[in-house]
Amino acid sequence: MILFDSVTKKYPGDKDPALDSVSLHIEPNEFVFLVGKSGAGKSTLMKMITKEELPDSGKIIIGGIDLDYVKKRDIPGYRRRLGVVFQDFKLLPRRTVYENVAFALEIAGMSSKEIRKTVPKVLDLVDLLDQAKKFPDQLSGGQQQRVSIARSVARQPKILIADEPTANLDKLTTEEIIGLLKKINDFGTTILVTTHNENVVNTLQKRVVTLKDGKIVNDQKNHGVYELSEAKVPVRKMQTPGYALKQRKKVI
Ligand code: ADP
Repeated sequence: MILFDSVTKKYPGDKDPALDSVSLHIEPNEFVFLVGKSGAGKSTLMKMITKEELPDSGKIIIGGIDLDYVKKRDIPGYRRRLGVVFQDFKLLPRRTVYENVAFALEIAGMSSKEIRKTVPKVLDLVDLLDQAKKFPDQLSGGQQQRVSIARSVARQPKILIADEPTANLDKLTTEEIIGLLKKINDFGTTILVTTHNENVVNTLQKRVVTLKDGKIVNDQKNHGVYELSEAKVPVRKMQTPGYALKQRKKVI
């Protein structure tokens, strides 16, 4: 579902690569936390998935799509197939909660009739049906993030990625947002979340991939814990360059 095979990315002017031969295979319906200190390469990995940045070498396949073959003009269409959640919510300030979700569906080409059916359902999923007429600045941070999540799952993406979705939220709200992501995962969506929140990672006990200096130094498949300093669990075989690519046929 998400496949990185020996992906390397160095930004112009930087001495070291932001991602250094990263191989990662995330299967459909997995829930994965991506952790690592600031500068470890987490955002760069996310930007590779959305094609905001391009790798210098290596292969990336997302939901069966080889990103090498996604042309520039097709990138917006490709991104609409993913659910993307941001730490700063990125809501349209002059549109209501309802309109924020409806607008995303309109852009994606959904008919008005379908939109009228879909928006209440997703607002109900994130428990915001009663706030539909409010504007973003009339909502709490957690509620704004829930609108952002509603918007990104409205088209029922197979994959949802979230870069630090709880960075601006307090503890209780963070738990609420992570609970919502878990619910979405239970419905069958693959989830990849970057976070600095040790508590959240340790409570959920899902797969935890740790990046350090652009390399995966730890990959705990089950009952993962937040551990930045050194690999407690040996890096799994799938980290070997070439292995992930061999799995490609199975994924697609
Ligand atoms: P993280 O999300 O884990 O904090 P990043 O992916 O943002 O890590 O950064 C990884 C490395 O790449 C860092 O050394 C950072 O300075 C560098 N980097 C990130 N974005 C850019 C950029 N646009 N130009 C140059 N260097 C960058």
